[in-house]
Amino acid sequence: MWFCDQCGREAAGGDPLAGTAPTCPEHGPRWRLIRNAPCAGVVIERGGLLLLGKRAKQPFQGWWEVPGGFVERGEHPATAAVREVREELGIDVVLTGLVGIYLEDSARGESLQVTVYAGTTDATTCVPDPAEVSDWAWFAPADVPHELAGRHRIRIDDWLAGRTVPLPADGLS
Ligand SMILES: [Zn+2]
Repeated sequence: MWFCDQCGREAAGGDPLAGTAPTCPEHGPRWRLIRNAPCAGVVIERGGLLLLGKRAKQPFQGWWEVPGGFVERGEHPATAAVREVREELGIDVVLTGLVGIYLEDSARGESLQVTVYAGTTDATTCVPDPAEVSDWAWFAPADVPHELAGRHRIRIDDWLAGRTVPLPADGLS
């Protein structure tokens, strides 16, 4: 079963593993799902706690996630990461480092290349987009839920292991 990357509705037909796009009844062919689609996310930390969102749409509806999303054409992953957090959670993050770059082939066959940053925020409350995020919470590392979308656990484990490297001075290049 395939899901539209834009709205989360089931996208029928096609086979990403064979290079043909599933089609969303509202958004048409979802070509993003058949390449190493670029994504960016942020492990958001403050005071030792991690900020996670709960997915409001498929896939992994109702599961917690490291906030993030697709990189737009011509957009730097760092810019996309900050933008996605603002869109999903209504807060501004400051990126503090690079956790890693992950190639994620989900069980459904989507192939995502995800740049994951570390970041922090001064925000005390989130204003989530209900189409994207149904809940949010700060977690102590030991209390991070097992119901994490995709392979997001690896991102958190790498962050916990201190694998984060500093960003270049301009934060981008
Ligand atoms: Zn759609």
